Amino acid sequence: MTDYKNLIDGEMVDNGEWLEVLNPANEQVVGRVPACGKDELDRAVAAARRAFKEWKKTPQEERQKAVQGIAAAIKGNADELYRLLTSEQGKPHTQAQQEIYGAAGLAAAQSTLTLDDVISQDDDTRLSRTRRVPVGVVGGIVPWNFPIMMAIQKIVPALVAGCTIVLKPSPFTPLTTLRIAELIKDVVPAGTVNIITGEDTLGPLITEHPDIDKITFTGSTATGKKIMAGASGDLKRITLELGGNDASIVLPDADVEKVAEQLFWSSFSNAGQVCIAAKRVYIHKDIYDDLSKAIAAYANTVVVGDGSQQGTGVGPIQNKKQYERVLELIQDAKDNGYKFLTGGDKDPSGTGYYVPITILDNPPEDARIVAEEQFGPVMPLLKFDTIDEVIERANNSDYGLAGAVWTKDTDKGVEIAEQLETGTVWINEFMHLSPFAPFGGHKQSGFGAEYGVDGLKEFTYPQVITVKRDAAV
Ligand code: NAD
Repeated sequence: MTDYKNLIDGEMVDNGEWLEVLNPANEQVVGRVPACGKDELDRAVAAARRAFKEWKKTPQEERQKAVQGIAAAIKGNADELYRLLTSEQGKPHTQAQQEIYGAAGLAAAQSTLTLDDVISQDDDTRLSRTRRVPVGVVGGIVPWNFPIMMAIQKIVPALVAGCTIVLKPSPFTPLTTLRIAELIKDVVPAGTVNIITGEDTLGPLITEHPDIDKITFTGSTATGKKIMAGASGDLKRITLELGGNDASIVLPDADVEKVAEQLFWSSFSNAGQVCIAAKRVYIHKDIYDDLSKAIAAYANTVVVGDGSQQGTGVGPIQNKKQYERVLELIQDAKDNGYKFLTGGDKDPSGTGYYVPITILDNPPEDARIVAEEQFGPVMPLLKFDTIDEVIERANNSDYGLAGAVWTKDTDKGVEIAEQLETGTVWINEFMHLSPFAPFGGHKQSGFGAEYGVDGLKEFTYPQVITVKRDAAV
């Protein structure tokens, strides 16, 4: 077991109080991190505030170079980092590798983003120019499903925009983030990036801190609402990336054998703990029987187990609370007599938060397992008849994060996509996010956007400077 320290003002520090972090595959302690409260937060915010004075004036190329240094540090230590990530998060090594390399790639790509001035008037009367200025000190709060990707997608645009940041990882998955903190300590100027750990109670202290100017949060919709309320005291700027209940729609012309495997992974990657996982899969009635059989057959070939073991496809649920919630949803489906194609019948026991791959056969639309975000290895397959009907069913949700349409007729796919009330829709793929396109939720899936120029803008204010050219002075 290793102790991991916090990064405050360019130093790795601890306060002598510790939180233990468990490996969800075996419930053994894998490391300890500082249990911080108001004092450590105040020190981190003061460091970020001091560093902001210089960082906001630092030329863009230098800021970009620092971010590229973060990308290189992650990539250069990927082997160590992905193993550590699996040990605290549970995801299989291959998926942990994808997250680590993905985070390095995202940092490198987003380092190139710029916000150019916009001239709105340039004539004999006046010159009017809009520039973007950094908002100041950012508080970043991230969840446990993609701890590194989420940390990077907050740290990087903050730095590129000229802000400084105090980041709080989830208490369930702080280890890899703190190891990265150690690796980047001398890559970025002291105080620009601060990473502190603590229980959930540290979150509201960040949200309400009077010297933080903006909150960027990824997590559940319930917590997002608390953050919005907490940030309202001094009208902090907020970006919220929240939950989803994404629908995948499979049209009758889709190739059953080809889409079965892709549909499986669109739901079961990271043990279903993905905000943009397919959480409701609508299949046209003409291919429903064949496709549901093909998905179930593929599911039977996938191994559930410890992510550090070769051959594991689906790891454990990340933490006990979520594990119990997923089991409760499965129990509810059993109690209601819904039909299972896989899972449901097995009784999970022993150590580790394992849930068998669970696929439901056409449960009713108002079943909890359909209407709620499962966030676990559970996939309800649902039969539909007409396009109008499936669009209405897909949109019948408070969430609006993403969705997918599977069809050979891509024009038809786009026509359906345009009627879905979500921030992202894929035709014939899933989970692809571009560093250069905005990612954000409609309805209760979010507020604002991350990624691309739109995401970068969220770390800035517009400032309009107007010069009167024909002034009588
Ligand atoms: P969560 O909301 O419980 O916790 C997220 C973070 O918020 C953690 O760091 C936690 O310590 C902190 N927190 C908890 N209470 C807080 C409070 N009152 N004030 C401030 N911070 C607080 O979410 P989770 O269970 O860690 O993550 C799962 C959820 O995240 C799912 O709903 C999932 O869909 C969502 N998610 C969304 C995206 C996206 O990009 N839209 C990505 C990943 C996960």
